[in-house]
Amino acid sequence: MSDDCIFCRIARKKMKNEVVSEDEETLAFRDVNPQAPTHVLVIPKEHIERLTDLGPERAGFIGRLVLKGVEVARAEGLSERGFRLVLNCGAEAGQSVFHVHLHVLGGRKMGWPPG
Ligand code: 5GP
Ligand code: ZN
Repeated sequence: MSDDCIFCRIARKKMKNEVVSEDEETLAFRDVNPQAPTHVLVIPKEHIERLTDLGPERAGFIGRLVLKGVEVARAEGLSERGFRLVLNCGAEAGQSVFHVHLHVLGGRKMGWPPG
């Protein structure tokens, strides 16, 4: 846990947030600046800065994070129409919060390739 990290503070419920779901390991909450009708972030409660900090011993965790994103998308009614899961790693990919987070986006037609 890092005091300087906004997502750690959210994980500790020190901030007001629209929580969508929670379990022992993860928290899902709505993005403050949504880029689609559904825009939920799934974060580990543990402070992990970036994907490249994860080794093969964390394969189970990353699998559960993705499955949690799928569960959120299903609960949002997106499993038939489609949705997008995004993990940005590093500045050039657009990572702005350095605490690993999975974006769950849906409810509109998505463009490809991403900008
Ligand atoms: P990134 O650009 O790092 O992949 O995504 C960070 C996301 O976190 C952005 O979509 C941004 O809108 C969201 N975000 C940043 N600060 C907050 C906050 O305090 N609360 C919530 N709910 N979302 C945040
Ligand atoms: Zn953090």
